[in-house]
Amino acid sequence: MSTTTVPFWVAGKPVTSEQTAVVRHSFDDSEAGVHFVPSSSDIETAVQAAHDVAEEFATLPAHVRASALDHVSRTLGERSEELARLITAESGKPLKWARGEVGRAVSTFRWAAEEARRFSGELQRLDTDPGGTGRLALVRRVPRGPVLGITPFNFPLNLVAHKVAPAIAVGAPIVLKPAPATPLTALALGEILAETDLPAGSWSILPTDNEAAAALVADPRLPVVSFTGSVPVGWGIRDSVPRKHVALELGGNAAVLVCPDWTDLDFAAQRIATFAMYQAGQSCISVQRVYAHADVFDALQEKVLEQVRALGTGDPRADGVDVGPLINTAAAARVESWVSDAVAAGGSLLAGGARDGATVEPTVLTDVPEDASVMAEEVFGPVVSLTRVSSVDEGVRLINASRFGLQAGVFTRDLPTAFDVSARLAVGGVLVGDVPSFRADQMPYGGVKDSGVGREGPASAMADFTEERVTVLTGL
Ligand code: NAD
Repeated sequence: MSTTTVPFWVAGKPVTSEQTAVVRHSFDDSEAGVHFVPSSSDIETAVQAAHDVAEEFATLPAHVRASALDHVSRTLGERSEELARLITAESGKPLKWARGEVGRAVSTFRWAAEEARRFSGELQRLDTDPGGTGRLALVRRVPRGPVLGITPFNFPLNLVAHKVAPAIAVGAPIVLKPAPATPLTALALGEILAETDLPAGSWSILPTDNEAAAALVADPRLPVVSFTGSVPVGWGIRDSVPRKHVALELGGNAAVLVCPDWTDLDFAAQRIATFAMYQAGQSCISVQRVYAHADVFDALQEKVLEQVRALGTGDPRADGVDVGPLINTAAAARVESWVSDAVAAGGSLLAGGARDGATVEPTVLTDVPEDASVMAEEVFGPVVSLTRVSSVDEGVRLINASRFGLQAGVFTRDLPTAFDVSARLAVGGVLVGDVPSFRADQMPYGGVKDSGVGREGPASAMADFTEERVTVLTGL
């Protein structure tokens, strides 16, 4: 990787400072890159600039904002291989998944550009009551104010895109705080944003530590906080600023229900194995719990094991590697200990379980008690637990017993079951005929219960970053 120390971005300009931070590759501790760290005065400049430009940015014509977003989308596509390699270097994500992430960010920015062109308000008639006779209401959506976007390590580009793109689309200035483990891709995105005509002050990218991030959360000049990350940090943020508008995209322990009518067990097993282990399980919608009906359980288990054993682990920079390291050795050690706890509590280890540095072997468990950490908490590692259920209802009950509720997958071809189960599952999204790990970037995405509040996807986030303003027209 390059040895150049990369700048951070304050009010659309590259800035250097006295302090630097090294970002390391979790697979072999090699250097992924070095960046400058903003000082408190750099942070102050960025926040004040966002505050000062808010009015101008909100009234910038939609075509200017949409063109800027189109430029970002196009350029991400042109620089995709370089960016994918950067994602792999800083996050340990296998190259094939990193390439997929860049492709998704291309589409997230493109969708935001399209939404920016059609984002509008509505005209409401008020003469439905006698008092409103002769009046019309013009309902516009206006930005709530500058947005503070805080992002996690596991999608260093596309989750940044989900903050930056909708903010630009509605004309809300954004101050982005990327994850300390993976700030380099966000800083590279800054190079592309700097090529646009967006007003100075409308965007800053500040790779700060958590203490400075907490101060940003408290800053009244950033009235909107859009946070993606872990459950305790997210809810802690919301509790600390009850008067702010806070959206939380948090973790989960996503489940799959395999119904007795599902016959294509090869497909289900392939999807379960792939999406329990992809990114070494470090996705908020990784398959973590599988509830399979007794009629299909044994055959499914055998096929999942076959698929898991076929996955290639190793250096994520090498082509063909499916499962790389976790973000650091401490995370891998935690996962290893949760697997041991599950076995001590009566679970059976069917595959994997071993750890080498930050890499955990793809692990399959069965008969694990529901209160073991690998079932009840978010594993965020390459571990899946298979549980036999005697009815669809039992599966629904066990899925819903979780304190999380992000997405769930239901393998059934029976339409009434699909409708019934998807209505009863307490999650933000249900995938019928697939695992829960699918997200199309334009769809509303988010969780219930401990998994968060609010929805992302360009259109949903644009609604979230704005509020209705009514103009009542009288005597027309
Ligand atoms: P994390 O909560 O440790 O960190 C997320 C971000 O918050 C980082 O940028 C971090 O620096 C910042 N942060 C930490 N403490 C802070 C504080 N006190 N004030 C302000 N900011 C603070 O999460 P992580 O380990 O980077 O990411 C993994 C988590 O993210 C998992 O729980 C995963 O499920 C979740 N996630 C959720 C989604 C979703 O869309 N629902 C997507 C991806 C990841």
